[in-house]
Amino acid sequence: MKTTDANSASGRPLPAVLTDFDDTAAAQNVAEMLLNQFGDPSWKDVRQRFRDGQINLKEYQEITFSNIQADRATMQSYVKEHANLRPYFLELWGFCQSNNIPMAVVSQGLDFYIEALLERSGAGRVPIYAVNTEFSSGKISYQYNHTNPGKEDLGNSKGFVVKSFQERGCHVFFAGDGHSDLEAARVADVTFAHKGLATFCDEENIPYRPFEDFGAMLVAVREYSNNGHKPNAG
Ligand SMILES: [Mg+2]
Repeated sequence: MKTTDANSASGRPLPAVLTDFDDTAAAQNVAEMLLNQFGDPSWKDVRQRFRDGQINLKEYQEITFSNIQADRATMQSYVKEHANLRPYFLELWGFCQSNNIPMAVVSQGLDFYIEALLERSGAGRVPIYAVNTEFSSGKISYQYNHTNPGKEDLGNSKGFVVKSFQERGCHVFFAGDGHSDLEAARVADVTFAHKGLATFCDEENIPYRPFEDFGAMLVAVREYSNNGHKPNAG
């Protein structure tokens, strides 16, 4: 269907594409890959405490990564060598770039390993909403800049990031696989889900489309924006 320029200008909201990182943008769980390679063997016990609900995700991650002896550069080169992006991520990023559509990675994971894989894949300019880390004298410090007000102790919130894009007028397409993606799926305009997230969405009757790679998401975003959307307000 053709639309006039006037219709395009007053058309639908601008889409935005947000994706989880571990097991979604990345084909692997990169955090676990690093813990397997460099972590203290007790990291799986800590993961069990997290799965049993004794500690939250933020605590689990901080405890396990604090026990790692490897430095930032060592872990980054390991990621560059062993991890890869899921198919059509780069095509989707290219489409978003040429149409001024915001796209970002939204993760509860740590910035340095996300940056490493994106850079190696030629997507180093994709914005990252994750845990900001600083390495200094053998220690990692963590900064959480995307928390729900009043719930800072839970760490970053993907729902908070989705809503911040919606507050800027965006129609949010979100992809994820895990429990930390559920709060984003609850508020996103279109959710692509796989693994645990698909099950959680079924349980809560949240509509979603199955996720395998970014091919279907690219088709959906392209179709949505074919009918015209408002220009990026900047
Ligand atoms: Mg994930």
